Amino acid sequence: MMLKLIDLAKENETQELLEAFWNTYHCQQKIITADGKLYGKYCENRFWTLCCSIRKAEIISRYFPIIKHWEEPHFVTITIKAVKEAKPKDQRKTEKANFRFISRRYNFKE
Ligand SMILES: [Zn+2]
Repeated sequence: MMLKLIDLAKENETQELLEAFWNTYHCQQKIITADGKLYGKYCENRFWTLCCSIRKAEIISRYFPIIKHWEEPHFVTITIKAVKEAKPKDQRKTEKANFRFISRRYNFKE
């Protein structure tokens, strides 16, 4: 998959993505052992399942000291369709209004 994405990045001349895709292609390629442990370099990119799961775990760990005190925590993922020609301020207003609507409907505290 990464090689196909690398080809696409080359075709579209997107240097930043090209470097990120190569970085992921080489993720954990070199493993060093020391004191009975294995060490490697992660790409830390979202589009690689392993590194994405590590990112999520790190984020959850950062928020956990706060979340553990909440009475009834919920994990909610809200997605929207990609906008071709976004007007960032209008889009942000719409997102906030939609979030408020959902919060009221399900009685979440913002
Ligand atoms: Zn990685």
